[in-house]
Amino acid sequence: MQEEMKQTIEHKIIASNFKTNHTRKSTGDFIENINSFLDEEDIKNEVYIFPTATSLDNFDTVKNLEVGVQNAYFVQNGSFTGEIGTQQLDEFEIKTILIGHSERRHILGETQKEISLKYNFYKSLGYKIIYCIGEPLEVKEAGLTETLGYIWEQFDGIDLNYENLILAYEPVWAIGTGVVAKIEDIAKIHRKIKKKINKPLLYGGSVKVDNIAEVLSVPNVDGTLIGTASWDIDNFKKMIKITKEK
Ligand code: PEP
Repeated sequence: MQEEMKQTIEHKIIASNFKTNHTRKSTGDFIENINSFLDEEDIKNEVYIFPTATSLDNFDTVKNLEVGVQNAYFVQNGSFTGEIGTQQLDEFEIKTILIGHSERRHILGETQKEISLKYNFYKSLGYKIIYCIGEPLEVKEAGLTETLGYIWEQFDGIDLNYENLILAYEPVWAIGTGVVAKIEDIAKIHRKIKKKINKPLLYGGSVKVDNIAEVLSVPNVDGTLIGTASWDIDNFKKMIKITKEK
């Protein structure tokens, strides 16, 4: 039964998180370049790019390339200095959002309560949500039970049956550090999450050209969410090509 209910993923997913990198001009060039590349190479994988909010535009993209937003507040508009809402996203027909990224949780102090409000707001509008989870180093070092307990708490207030949900497991200690989780650790955590939640599950944390093939070969890894290594267009193309072959 569990097997039958499993959501089947035809093609692996690849997503690029620009974080605080690239300008409006370089983002436009990047997206145009990736768009032509997907077309010319007949790549069918779902590809996501999350540029900075200031670089959003009316991008003309093939249907498997989606431009999303790294963050937005859970409002249409209002008085929330420094934030953007759906009024700004609608201008560019943005319908995809990253929620729960570790940098927002741990550097910018977003609480699980705020994250769940954001999640439910964007869910109610039908957005595709890439929802990030993952444990800090001290929790990993405390053991598997603590790690899983920490991850399950990151699902508080989150509807896991939402049809437009993609999960991304990103151990905090592996993000932007050059440290990739051991293959057996990725396999273990992904198996545990998949057993509980029947949704596409990406891995993120220092994925790069040299290790993406190995990461994509791990059972229950449906794709990758990449920061640093994806900001260089040639590297991102190489990783898309490897993803296609997997
Ligand atoms: C990320 O920002 O989601 C990420 C995984 O970053 P990096 O690839 O740089 O570790």
